[in-house]
Amino acid sequence: MSEHGSRALLAHLVGFATVSRDSNLALIEFIAQYLAGHGIEAELLFNDAGDKASLFATLGPDVAGGIVLSGHTDVVPVDGQAWSVPPFEMSEADGRLYGRGTADMKGFIACVLAAVPQLLAKPLRSPVHLAFSYDEEVGCLGVRPMLAALDQRPHKPRLCLIGEPSELQPVLGHKGKLAMRCEVRGLACHSAHAPSGVNAIEYAARLIGHLGDLGEALAAPEHHDTRFDPPYSTVQTGVIHGGRALNIVPAECAFDFEVRTLPGFDAQQVVDGLQTYAEQRLLPRMHAVDPGTGIRLQPLSAYPGLATAADSEAAQLLAYLCGSDAFTTVAFGTEGGLFDEVGIPTVVCGPGSMAQGHKPDEFVTLEQLDGCDAMLKRLADHLHC
Ligand SMILES: [Zn+2]
Repeated sequence: MSEHGSRALLAHLVGFATVSRDSNLALIEFIAQYLAGHGIEAELLFNDAGDKASLFATLGPDVAGGIVLSGHTDVVPVDGQAWSVPPFEMSEADGRLYGRGTADMKGFIACVLAAVPQLLAKPLRSPVHLAFSYDEEVGCLGVRPMLAALDQRPHKPRLCLIGEPSELQPVLGHKGKLAMRCEVRGLACHSAHAPSGVNAIEYAARLIGHLGDLGEALAAPEHHDTRFDPPYSTVQTGVIHGGRALNIVPAECAFDFEVRTLPGFDAQQVVDGLQTYAEQRLLPRMHAVDPGTGIRLQPLSAYPGLATAADSEAAQLLAYLCGSDAFTTVAFGTEGGLFDEVGIPTVVCGPGSMAQGHKPDEFVTLEQLDGCDAMLKRLADHLHC
C-alpha cells in the first residue's frame, strides 16, 4: 500500500478529531497541502468564528459541467460510547479499518484524495470538483455558504456525487427533515388552585397529541411513495422538558419534534397545522386565564429530501461508475437535497455502511475502500480525453 493510497490517507484523516463541535482546520490544512503537492489550489470558506472551513478545489479545465465529489469532514462525538480501540487513531483487524469517521465519511474522502494523481495523469475533458464541508452532522450547516458561492459562479457542475456510506450501492434519494422546538408558556400557581394557573405541560400534551394526529394523516395510503421506508412522511416528538414539583402548576414546557418528509412534501404544512390548532383551540383558553401565556414554534434545523430520477444523466453515470442500476434510497439524510436545490443533480454512493456510522468501533472494510478506489478509477477513465 503506497503512502498516498486510500488506506494511508484514511489513517491521516481519522487522526484529526473533527467532531462537529471542534475545529476542522488541521484536517482542512492537511488536505489543502496534499492538493498543493499535486499543483491544485484549494479555496477555503471559513465560518464566522474562523475555526472551521470547507474546501473547494477544481481539477481539470475550469469550464461548465463536470462532477462534484462531495463529503463532510466532521464526525459525531464518541462521548459515552464504549470503544475497544482508540477512536481517533486508525487500526486494522480482519480486513476492517477501525476509527471514528472511517465509514461516515472519511473513507470516501480518503479515496477521493487517493484518486487525485490518477485524475491528473491525463488531461480531463471536464472538471472534477472536490467539495468538503463541515457541520454536516449538526444540520447540514457548513455546506450552505459553499453552495451559495457555487451558485454565483459563471458555470455550474453538471452533477454531484456524495460519498455517504451506501456500501457502494447507487442511491438516488432520501427523506428531508425539519426539526422544531415548541415552547409553551403557562402560569404557575399552587396546585391546590390549579384552575387559576395555566398548566404548560397539559397544553404541551395537547399539542403533542395533535402532532400525532397530523402524523397519522400523512400515513394514508394515497400519500405512499414505495421508494422510501416507511413509504410516507412521519412526525415524531423526541424531547420534552417541563415542571418543577408536583404541587406547582408548571409555567413552562418545551418539546422538540421532527417531520421526516418524502421529497416534494412541505413539512411547513405540519407546522401550520399545529399553529392553527394552537390559535383556534388552545390560546383562547390560555389567554382567558392570563394574556401573558403563549405558544412559540421555532425551527431548529432543516434539510430537503432528495429524489433524483432514475433516467437522469446523474443516475446513469452513477450506474456506470458503480456497476449497478439497482437504485435505492437511504434512511439517513445527506447534503444532497441542498446541492439539488441550487440546480446540481445529485446522487449518493460511498464505501462502508451506516450500520457502523455513529457507533462505537466504527469501521470500513478494506474491500469497500478498494471498491471505492475502483469506482473513482472508472470515473478517471471516463473523464480522460
Ligand atoms: Zn455522513
